[in-house]
Amino acid sequence: MLYRDGHMHLENGPLTKEYVLQFVEAAHQKGLDEIQILDHTHRFIEFEPIYEDLKVYDVQKTWLENKTMKFKDQLSDYIDLMKDIQKMDLPVKVKYGLEVCYVPQYKQKIKEIIDSYSFDFLVGAIHSIDGILYDMSFSKELLWNRYDVDDIYHRYYELVFQLIESDLFTQLAHPDTIKLFQIYPTYDLKPTYRKMATLLKQHHMKAENNVGCYYRYGHPDLGLSDELLRILKEYQVEMIYASDAHQPEDVGHSIKEAMLRLNED
Ligand SMILES: [Zn+2]
Ligand SMILES: [Zn+2]
Repeated sequence: MLYRDGHMHLENGPLTKEYVLQFVEAAHQKGLDEIQILDHTHRFIEFEPIYEDLKVYDVQKTWLENKTMKFKDQLSDYIDLMKDIQKMDLPVKVKYGLEVCYVPQYKQKIKEIIDSYSFDFLVGAIHSIDGILYDMSFSKELLWNRYDVDDIYHRYYELVFQLIESDLFTQLAHPDTIKLFQIYPTYDLKPTYRKMATLLKQHHMKAENNVGCYYRYGHPDLGLSDELLRILKEYQVEMIYASDAHQPEDVGHSIKEAMLRLNED
């Protein structure tokens, strides 16, 4: 079995070899064969234009204007660093990509930027619903307490479908992370999950079994919900374990248990 962690972030550290090697070492300690390193597009100067719509809300504007975290590096510096890492003789195979905050209005802009570079993989993620982030401490006030939960879920999955249909990505980030606060819709999600599975298969994309919600937000599911996991397996969608580590210590978090869920029938 290939032990692979498909999703980890460098964002809390500098773009240096020493820092990347901490992730490699952590992966080696956990017995991993391969890691996929990425960062959110909001780390990079080039992507600032695609976050314009979020700035309508002051709290999101403040979040984006924190220059110690956001839009602080050039994409080329990241890619050069990762290419240097790949030239090294390491015990773990390292691939690099991006986690793109996908917004359909900016499809062309995103395409222009990512087409100028080469990546081993590209992860697409929905992090906002029509200009409002759904997973932040301020999201309850801005989104969840203000809008109908069924509408939020409908819109989230519509955006996920558009992300898949954009054909820009090889991997879908945390497909059902909209559940992170354990707020659920009143309608049956199975038809939505079947449509998502059909689209993922058609567009040759992997789906993540991302355990970030489990250990970072205290959600009881060890990654995908049982229902969604079952449907993705039924449609033979390729799945990839993802720790969503934001620091080296979390590389391969709960991987054994999470891999078991992916592999058992
Ligand atoms: Zn994400
Ligand atoms: Zn992530």
